[in-house]
This record gives sequence, structure tokens and C-alpha cells, in this order.
Amino acid sequence: MDHRLSPELEELRRTVEEFAHDVVAPKIGDFYERHEFPYEIVREMGRMGLFGLPFPEEYGGMGGDYLALGIALEELARVDSSVAITLEAGVSLGAMPIHLFGTEEQKRTWLPRLCSGEILGAFGLTEPDGGSDAGATRTTARRDETTGEWVINGTKCFITNSGTDITGLVTVTAVTGRKPDGAPLISAILVPSGTPGFTVAAPYSKVGWNASDTRELSFADVRVPAANLLGTEGRGYAQFLRILDEGRVAIAALATGLAQGCVDESVKYAKERHAFGRPIGANQAIQFKVADMEMKAHTARLAWRDAASKLVAGEPFKKEAALAKLYSSTVAVDNARDATQIHGGYGFMNEYPVARMWRDAKILEIGEGTSEVQRMLIARELGLVS
Ligand SMILES: Cc1cc2nc3c(=O)[nH]c(=O)nc-3n(C[C@H](O)[C@H](O)[C@H](O)COP(=O)(O)OP(=O)(O)OC[C@H]3O[C@@H](n4cnc5c(N)ncnc54)[C@H](O)[C@@H]3O)c2cc1C
Repeated sequence: MDHRLSPELEELRRTVEEFAHDVVAPKIGDFYERHEFPYEIVREMGRMGLFGLPFPEEYGGMGGDYLALGIALEELARVDSSVAITLEAGVSLGAMPIHLFGTEEQKRTWLPRLCSGEILGAFGLTEPDGGSDAGATRTTARRDETTGEWVINGTKCFITNSGTDITGLVTVTAVTGRKPDGAPLISAILVPSGTPGFTVAAPYSKVGWNASDTRELSFADVRVPAANLLGTEGRGYAQFLRILDEGRVAIAALATGLAQGCVDESVKYAKERHAFGRPIGANQAIQFKVADMEMKAHTARLAWRDAASKLVAGEPFKKEAALAKLYSSTVAVDNARDATQIHGGYGFMNEYPVARMWRDAKILEIGEGTSEVQRMLIARELGLVS
């Protein structure tokens, strides 16, 4: 057992750390304040190959795996979560479904441009009436018997990367039929941006992740070719469970990055800020807080890397992914609260990175499965069924 990174992964970590420090950190605060998508930073991430990290080279990827993706996400989120979630959603939700379940033609059509960051992909699962209970999908897709096309109707909400100028497609889940017992048959279908009847709403006004793109999507008799079905009809439910299991490992890495970023900023500030004639970091109350924050970030890192190692090895990883997501998001919120406290009044000012981290932490306990859903998954894996 060895928890150290290979030389290649350490090199990747250092490269992304430098990029986050030199390119993202100086600029992202302004984008965040303006609620603006940072195209120039995302373009640079594309040039670095980050969107292709876990995909094979034959489709334009870097030939890496989920460990590589997690390393990149953690380093980005140490500095900023908006760019990290743009990468996470682009890779884990946008491109990965096509890589895992797509036909050869779908892979050749979409993956090279997704891997280069030329276009972004999105995944539309959540609906206004159903997030955690994703099986309650109301969006429908029926086949036009004459043309063979899919005709999609419905609404999706909170979809990341779905309305940028470079969004290329959204994979949507839709009910395409019923089983003999009346249960819905859910399928996943690729819908290119700009397809007539596919409307993207204005960006939401969000508490955090303000330099990332989140929209509501409407589908009114949207027609796409029969060949846009992803994988087998009726397998959409199983497909998105797999996508979400993997995505949780990525979100756990991102949450670890945020938790570590809070430590970085707090150590720096505790050395600089003086009160009562000495640095606030000379007080044991502050030291103990920072020590606990470091303990949590370190343990979260072990948890996501453990889940990623199992995923990469082809072993069952559902429980480990849920544990890592639950733990890392909890400690991200803890550390963001404590880092803000250490910064005093300045922690409440948006010019300080910890203010951004505080606003960005909460969604980690909600997106890609709430903390309650993670507990349900863990209990189920332990054999407890309600
Ligand atoms: C910024 C942002 C980006 C997002 N990006 C995407 C995206 O790209 N694609 C996408 O498909 N979705 C996306 N989502 C949606 C996100 O995954 C859902 O919001 C999340 O899964 C929760 O669903 P919900 O909001 O419908 O809450 P609900 O499911 O309505 O849950 C409400 C509360 O009830 C609890 N609850 C529900 N059922 C149970 C139960 N059985 N037992 C105990 N507690 C329960 C939940 O844990 C939660 O606390 C995004 C959301 C946000 C805010």
C-alpha cells in the first residue's frame, strides 16, 4: 500500500498548482464578482489538456484516469471552485457518459472537441420536481414512427455548463416507455446545443460558484436523430447511477481542495494579522483550529484517493465514493466556516478568497447527491434496506 503519487501524477499536481496560483488566482475574483464565465481561463485549461485527462489518446484525451482528474480538481479548488466545477462537470458529466456508453461514432464525433475544451458538455438529470429522486423523471422522449427521430419534451433544472458560448451538447435523461409493471423506462439522449425547441434560460443567480454556468433547460418537441440515443434504450437509470458514483469521487477531490485552500489561506493570514501585539497565529486557539482543519483536509484526501484507486482498479467503489463525498463536503463546510472566523471581519469581504470559499462550500453537501443521499447509499451498502 502506497499513498504517494507517482512521478507523473506529482508532475501533473505541480503543473495545475502553478496554473491555479499564477493564472486563476489573480483573475477569478473579478469574474466571480461579475457573475461571469471565465472563458479565457477555461480555454487555457483546455490547452493544458485538463478536459481530456481521463480519456484515451485515440479520442484526443491524455490517457490518464480518475486519479489524474482528482489531482487536477483538488489543485484548482484550492484556489477556486468555479473553474474546478466547470472542469468536473465538463469531464465527469459532459464527456464521461459518451466515453462509457457511446457508440464508436458518438465517441469520434464528440470526444476530441470535448477533450480539447473547444466545447463543453453537460448532463441534464435533475428536474424541477425531482433531484434526489431522479427516477421520477418527467421529461419524455417518444419515437416518431415515420422519421425514427426522438421527440423530447420536458424541463431540466440546475444544469452546469449548459448555456455557455462553447456548450456543444447536453445529455438528457427522459422516459422513453414503460415496463410491463408500469415503471418508467429511462434513456439518455444526446441533444446538441442549438437544436430547435431546445431553450436555455438565463443563468441562475447563485449563492456561490458564481463564475460557473448553471441554467434551466426546456425541451418543446425537440427532434434529434435516432442515433443520438446513448447506449441501450431503457438503460438510462443504470447509466446515470454509474456516472454519479464516479462523479462523487471527483466532487470529493474538489471538496478536499476547498478544505485545503481554507488551511492555506488561514495559515498565511494567521502569520500576518496582529492583535494584542503578536500574530493571531501565536494563540493556541487559532493554532488548534488550523490543526483540526489540516487534519480534516488530509483525511478527506485519503478518502477520495482510496475511492479513486478502487475505481481505477475496476473494483467496487460505490461505498467508498459515497464516504469520500460525504466526508469531504462536510469538512469543506467546516473549514470554510473556520477560515472565515480566523479572518475576522476581512473574512466577510469578498476580496478575500475565504469569502468565496465560504460561499462555494455549501453546494458540495447538495450537488451530485445530497449528504442524506450519501448516507442512504452507505447504509444500503452495509445491508440496511428501508
Ligand atoms: C449549482 C448547482 C449545479 C448543479 N448541476 C447539476 C448538473 O449539472 N446536472 C444535474 O442533473 N443536476 C445538477 N444539480 C442538481 C443537484 O444534483 C440537485 O440539486 C441535488 O441532487 C438535490 O436535488 P433537489 O435539489 O431536487 O433536492 P431534493 O431531492 O428535493 O431534496 C431536498 C432535501 O430533502 C432531502 N431528501 C430527499 N429525499 C430524502 C430521503 N429519502 N431521505 C432523507 N432525506 C431526503 C435531501 O437530502 C435534501 O436535503 C445542480 C445543483 C446546483 C445547485
